[in-house]
Amino acid sequence: MAEKFDVFVIGGGPGGYAAAIRCAQKGASVALAEKDVMGGTCLNRGCIPSKALLGSAHFLTQAKHAPLMGIDIGEVKPNWAKMQARKNAIVTGFNKGVTGLLQANKIKIFEANAVVTAPGKIKLTSKDGENEVEAKNIIIATGSVPVNIPVFPFDGETIISSTEALSLAQIPESMVIIGGGVIGCEMACVYSCVGTKVTIVEALPQILPNEDQWVAKIMTKEFKKIGIETMPAKKVTAVNVSSGKATVALESGEELQAEKVLVAVGRKAFCDNETVDNLGLKMNRSVIEVNEKMETNVPGIYAIGDAVGTTYLAHGAFSEAEIAAENACGGDEKMGDYDLIPKAVYSFPEVASVGRNEKKCAELGIEVEVGSAMFKSNGRSVAHNESTGEIRVIRNKANNEILGVTMVGATVTEMIATARALIGSKEKITDVCFAHPTVSEVLKEAWEDAFGISLHVPPRK
Ligand code: NAD
Repeated sequence: MAEKFDVFVIGGGPGGYAAAIRCAQKGASVALAEKDVMGGTCLNRGCIPSKALLGSAHFLTQAKHAPLMGIDIGEVKPNWAKMQARKNAIVTGFNKGVTGLLQANKIKIFEANAVVTAPGKIKLTSKDGENEVEAKNIIIATGSVPVNIPVFPFDGETIISSTEALSLAQIPESMVIIGGGVIGCEMACVYSCVGTKVTIVEALPQILPNEDQWVAKIMTKEFKKIGIETMPAKKVTAVNVSSGKATVALESGEELQAEKVLVAVGRKAFCDNETVDNLGLKMNRSVIEVNEKMETNVPGIYAIGDAVGTTYLAHGAFSEAEIAAENACGGDEKMGDYDLIPKAVYSFPEVASVGRNEKKCAELGIEVEVGSAMFKSNGRSVAHNESTGEIRVIRNKANNEILGVTMVGATVTEMIATARALIGSKEKITDVCFAHPTVSEVLKEAWEDAFGISLHVPPRK
């Protein structure tokens, strides 16, 4: 007799494990299948290992600035092998942590590849063989893979994806990064800080094309200071590899040479074809189509996270996991406004945004007032030698509603949560007391400036 569960979750990434835990908290009997290592892309090949390397790179930069801070510490240089070992230890620690959390919630873990053979029926293939289990509801959280471009396919050695870029055996002398999106900008910072000559080639007119123009302007200038060259509005047409060296051809006719080429042109939703066919899942290319309750077209089958191609963000997957879990356990919950899911880029400086930016408001024809405050006017930022950047707050002129906040600066990925919490709240920002001196005061200044009442931003001419 097949083992039976209330909910079966496929995939142990942020979407999958969060959904499983929420279902267990609601009293359901839950199982989860993971064919690889627990934690998914985020923990093994994405957010966490990249932040571990960025953490080391940030520390290295700080150490290089020591004389400026009145400290003599002698020669500072990276030890790549130790940076890698530290990163691997962090990942392994969290792998164990997630597994432990699932076990503590009495979730049955299958180290197996799961294929849905029919609604409610799952075939599991592991090193021990095959078996079948049943579940009233199934949540598919199978993630995504890097986009592979046929004219310059990954070879895993010279033409690499972010997966290999996180674990290179040595620091390369030079690297061309195709794509100036989130991965491109974050990995550029890691490698530039450890001494690689980095060039980012971006097809669209600016790096971080989803952000407003002023963001890219600051980032381009700051990247230049740390040795990253940016080539916006340039499309890569081919990459030729010979004797382990790459020649990158651009549409403009220019050519770039590099030891490594990191292709970071986006990620693509993943779900195995067998499950798609067996269930007759409605797809939009590689993406599983869902409604706002995270239901697919097949009753009892939910899908979340990168597999549904909505945000390609771990925290987007967390939010969708909670909705799917509630509904799989008999609830009636819907996803909220996707624009209110914050975005964070952990580059040097960091970029974070939430809500609608100036570009989006202009597209929607909304008349706005933009408040702005600079980190260079903030005492704590200057004291910490991290005074680059700006915060902009967008107010709808028609009804005074704050529509969005965009930040560029040293710790803005931490501050974006405050901006998110305040958007839509009825509390006037003037009534909220911010501790002084703190970096977050820049947010208050920018917010007040959107109403023309900032104490520390001079009146506009
Ligand atoms: P992305 O969509 O952020 O950026 C890809 C970039 O490549 C785009 O700017 C695009 O214009 C450019 N591009 C495409 N084809 C090109 C070509 N032939 N030549 C030059 N440029 C080209 O994708 P990504 O950076 O690969 O990241 C993948 C996903 O992972 C994203 O959705 C991202 O949000 C997510 N991610 C998030 C974080 C984070 O939240 N901090 C970190 C890493 C990845």
